[in-house]
Amino acid sequence: MINKEKFLSELQTALETEYQTTLQHATANQLHCALGKWANGELYKNWCESRHNHANAKRAFYFSAEFLMGRLVFNDLYNMGVLDEVRDILAEKGADITMLEQIEDAALGNGGLGRLAACYLDSAATHNLPLDGYGIRYKYGLFKQRIVDGCQKETADDWQCQGDPWSLRCTADTVSVEFGDQTVNAVPYDMAVVGYRTTNVNTLRLWQAEAIEPFDFKLFNEQKYDEAVQAKNDAENISMVLYPNDDTPKGKVLRLKQQYFFCSASLKDILRSYKAVYGNDFSKFADCYAIQLNDTHPVIAIPELIRLLVDYEKLDFNLALSIAQKTFSYTNHTIMPEAMEKWSSELMKQVVPRVYEIMKMINEHLLRTLSEKGLHRGELIDHMIISKDMVHMARLAVYVCHKTNGVARIHTEILKARTLHEWYKLYPERFINKTNGVTQRRWMGLCNPKLSAFITELLGGDGWLTDLTLLKGLEQFANDNQVLDRFMSIKAENKQLLCDFIKRHDGASLNPDFIFDIQVKRLHEYKRQLLNAFSIVDIYFGLKDGRIKDFNPTAFLFGAKAAPGYYRAKGIIKYIGEIAKLVNNDPEVNGKIAVVFVQNYNVSYAEKLIPAANVSEQISTAGTEASGTGNMKLALNGAVTLGTYDGANVEIVEQAGEDNNYIFGLRVEDIEKISPNYNPKELYEKNLRIKRVVDTLVDGTFEDGGTGAFQDLYDSLLKGASWHQPDQYYLLADFESYIAAKLRVNRDYGDKYAFAKKCFLNIARCGMFSSDRPIKEYASEIWNIKPCK
Ligand SMILES: *Cc1c(COP(=O)(O)O)cnc(C)c1O
Repeated sequence: MINKEKFLSELQTALETEYQTTLQHATANQLHCALGKWANGELYKNWCESRHNHANAKRAFYFSAEFLMGRLVFNDLYNMGVLDEVRDILAEKGADITMLEQIEDAALGNGGLGRLAACYLDSAATHNLPLDGYGIRYKYGLFKQRIVDGCQKETADDWQCQGDPWSLRCTADTVSVEFGDQTVNAVPYDMAVVGYRTTNVNTLRLWQAEAIEPFDFKLFNEQKYDEAVQAKNDAENISMVLYPNDDTPKGKVLRLKQQYFFCSASLKDILRSYKAVYGNDFSKFADCYAIQLNDTHPVIAIPELIRLLVDYEKLDFNLALSIAQKTFSYTNHTIMPEAMEKWSSELMKQVVPRVYEIMKMINEHLLRTLSEKGLHRGELIDHMIISKDMVHMARLAVYVCHKTNGVARIHTEILKARTLHEWYKLYPERFINKTNGVTQRRWMGLCNPKLSAFITELLGGDGWLTDLTLLKGLEQFANDNQVLDRFMSIKAENKQLLCDFIKRHDGASLNPDFIFDIQVKRLHEYKRQLLNAFSIVDIYFGLKDGRIKDFNPTAFLFGAKAAPGYYRAKGIIKYIGEIAKLVNNDPEVNGKIAVVFVQNYNVSYAEKLIPAANVSEQISTAGTEASGTGNMKLALNGAVTLGTYDGANVEIVEQAGEDNNYIFGLRVEDIEKISPNYNPKELYEKNLRIKRVVDTLVDGTFEDGGTGAFQDLYDSLLKGASWHQPDQYYLLADFESYIAAKLRVNRDYGDKYAFAKKCFLNIARCGMFSSDRPIKEYASEIWNIKPCK
């Protein structure tokens, strides 16, 4: 319960003093800032108390270059348990809380990896686990996307331009970070991570880079003016932009600086609080702190901690290394070799010379360890952290960290058997699996209030919001047609809401009676949006020819951003745009299929799309998607999965039942078998359906605006390129089985109770995909931390 008088008086005071306005007349931004201020005030006491409690226990830190928090206002009010009350009080005073949907997302991440970090913070805070996040306060988050004539256009995401009421600048905790050629200040901004209905509040501390010398207007009169401007810009550049590449990092100096910047600052912050208690006795360090490295981006923290301990605290290198070994653990997020992060030694030496020295010492240590284990020179090459003048970040991580985890069972198995096999043989006990999860607070409770209320009603309580395994209790209703009727009508309402939103946001009209078949995720060749596009073209031809009859009308929805420099991914967006134009304007199929590519897919858009989905497209080439978390969000909102045996799809289907989902295509073992002789050209020539569809890339059916993008896609499938085989993601090999599965979903949808039952069972059986489960496993098996308030 909130104190209504106090709430209103604080809100009104803030609006009056800051903006000379009132609740009735406040703009979205004004209301947002006033609410943020009030919320931070409300949280302050609990936040201080939580900090105090955590300081007396072992605590963990989540180091991540990305935290995809999304829009904070609704989430934080929801977790505080006051969202409904606030909505009602505001409405009473003539203010509509929904106008806050104009507030920008905090999009400080690219996709799954960054969103996972955000879900983990939510779960830890909710379960009173002392876990704080450390990252970068990018001035510009992931670019904003518009679709203009079917093409992606990017604009900067100036997310703080209207203020950032959820962050508190903590100037007093500023630290400096040194590079080979510059020294900058790291200024922390703290965001409260509000646990759901608990007094516990954790912290996400994001570092902003600033010049060491304050910019002083006195300089106007001095020679130093230009120099100072330069230093200011050079410093601020470090936290200026989030790199928009997903999965395939580019070796850029600025990117390396970003990684080192936040790792160094965070470690200095941690060491400061440690020394305040233990002084120069570092024997307790690893008993006080655990640090989780989210992918290789923060792996540079390992040599940095050792450097700080050796150079400043005068510890012996071996002792410092053993402290690092007990402190760090590493999460691997990819099996694709091209995505394994490497840096040239030259660059490393130039940007962080002393850290590079430490890396060389770790490499020497590794070589000694390996020869003690009886390995020969030749066998060593695959292990060396520094090899052929490249620094291998994953090897550094696996060697030093006491645990390395994959993010889905199949992913961890592939790491052990392939990608990191050599390391697994050496240190089998270090490899463990932690299948990802998502927070049901945001991905059910907040984004799908109608379904959530219904679940609570059926289960006789809302305990499932903090213990998702309770969803099992829904199974008993799976044959109850009255329950299924209510379930279906909720889905229908969500679809209507989505239609209204898409109309406003993208200008497209959709019929909510259609099946909503949704593929939302970053645009990447391995995720195979192009295969989905091909299937739509094939179905289109099938409907026109009369080959496909009795087709249940379907809307195919896409949402995806392509990295701005990823030419092929942008070609795929354009291709889908062309299909949409053809299909949506053809009266012969209008009542049967619709295609929409929504603009600027982000967390807030995901919250609209996911509750409205009937079919969840999870069609990555087997062995390429580490886990996926979109698949979990969709299953938990009652969509069936149309997918491959890849990532967490395997476990979703294992839980929810094969009969309740639609699995197709080559498996990892199949691909291994066929890959040496794979000949997509032959498939293309022999299969007329494939040929007809693939030919639309080049036969004039569609226009790529003279860019050559479609020819390039065509060539990528049939000719390959210098850096890859033709059709390296096996689109043509999976073409037929995919479309067959898609048509099975379509047919099954016609039996509405049978289909609703499948959807409902997916919800009932996916309780293990809450991020609460893995966060508790990390806490007990890796970090050795316990709940505390
Ligand atoms: C969950 C989520 C993702 C991850 O989706 P995958 O399908 O697992 O790749 C990406 N972007 C946003 C905005 C998300 O919410």
